Amino acid sequence: MLNKKTVDDIDVKSKKVLVRCDFNVPIKDGKITDENRITAALPTIKKLISDGGKVILCSHMGKPKGEVKPELSLAPVAKRLSELLGKDVVFAPDDTVVGENAKKAVSQMKDGDVVLLENTRFRKEETKNEENFSRELASLADIYVDDAFGTSHRAHCSTVGVTKFVKESAVGYLMEKEIDYLGNAVNNPVRPFAAILGGAKVADKINVIGNLIEKVDILIIGGGMAYTFVKAQGYEVGKSLLDEERIDFAKEMIKKAKEKGVKLLLPVDTVIVKEFKNDTDFKTVPISEIPADWEGVDIGEKTRQIFTEALKSAKTVVWNGPMGVFEFENFAKGTYAIAKTLSELDATTIIGGGDSAAAVNQLGFGKKMSHISTGGGASLEFLEGKELPGVAAVNDK
Ligand code: AMP
Repeated sequence: MLNKKTVDDIDVKSKKVLVRCDFNVPIKDGKITDENRITAALPTIKKLISDGGKVILCSHMGKPKGEVKPELSLAPVAKRLSELLGKDVVFAPDDTVVGENAKKAVSQMKDGDVVLLENTRFRKEETKNEENFSRELASLADIYVDDAFGTSHRAHCSTVGVTKFVKESAVGYLMEKEIDYLGNAVNNPVRPFAAILGGAKVADKINVIGNLIEKVDILIIGGGMAYTFVKAQGYEVGKSLLDEERIDFAKEMIKKAKEKGVKLLLPVDTVIVKEFKNDTDFKTVPISEIPADWEGVDIGEKTRQIFTEALKSAKTVVWNGPMGVFEFENFAKGTYAIAKTLSELDATTIIGGGDSAAAVNQLGFGKKMSHISTGGGASLEFLEGKELPGVAAVNDK
């Protein structure tokens, strides 16, 4: 269990509470196109309102790199939040984030009121965790609550620096839920515990493989990163994705899995193409027979069967990274098969953020999973076994 203070452990009545949310939502033509991150923040905000706190929200959006970019203003978030909460959310449009508008709005707050500050990354100090901006943020509030799991792997002013200058800090419900799911899976899993890793980049997930191989019963590797393991087994991979520098690491992991009795499953067949597009000729070949000028874009049918069969016994599953180029309909079968299998399991199923979350939602299985993480990078770092600075900075219970 998380040993950090949560919003259930603090008394916020009539106090000013600065809440770091992750409102980094996609916006097109001024309209929010996916509001999952906003709705995920509502339980904490509602709790603080009903406890009589003065709720000051802050977040980053996109990468303005310390400059004021009107298209990355949080104004549309304030509007949508007002609708979702059924109450006025006062937006403080300061280019400096903690400016005259913010100070005035905060000074006029009554218990249960909500104010939203401008994009914290309009300040160049934010991503450098510089003291001056941390102090400015803290000057608005008595208590700090961190509910931004998606940014908890970054030590910034609004996630780490600010905690030094407030009287008390706690995590919000979203943060608590994310850490409970991921933490229980990794440290205290109901077994058999299976991890499924896919996607394009071995480099990004190398430490995840290294950490999880110590903990899981079944490790399934598919997607673009599988071909580095295929090469490590001594087969040619044609034009498939290959991380030459990690072939030795892949060999080491294959050896380690044997030593530890971990069931490591790699593709035995693959769908291959000559041209990287949806509408092109494709065929399925055994993994040892990829021709030199073809590339693998999905796991084959036999592999789908082996992977899904192995998952049927699992009681805890963590999944990060698609099994193929799921964005192309012809090559989404492997990813679909895994998503469908997980949706039917009597097990705790946890989907890492980013592409895997997008794939599961796009394929219509989102609601059937136990937990879909709101943080791609943060969930990967958690699975690597790293301490998340945004969580570490919060007061212990
Ligand atoms: P990642 O960010 O590492 O999780 O990678 C996700 C991306 O991997 C998705 O955009 C997929 O299209 C891509 N991907 C999965 N399998 C393959 C493959 N066999 N070849 C190329 N790209 C792939």
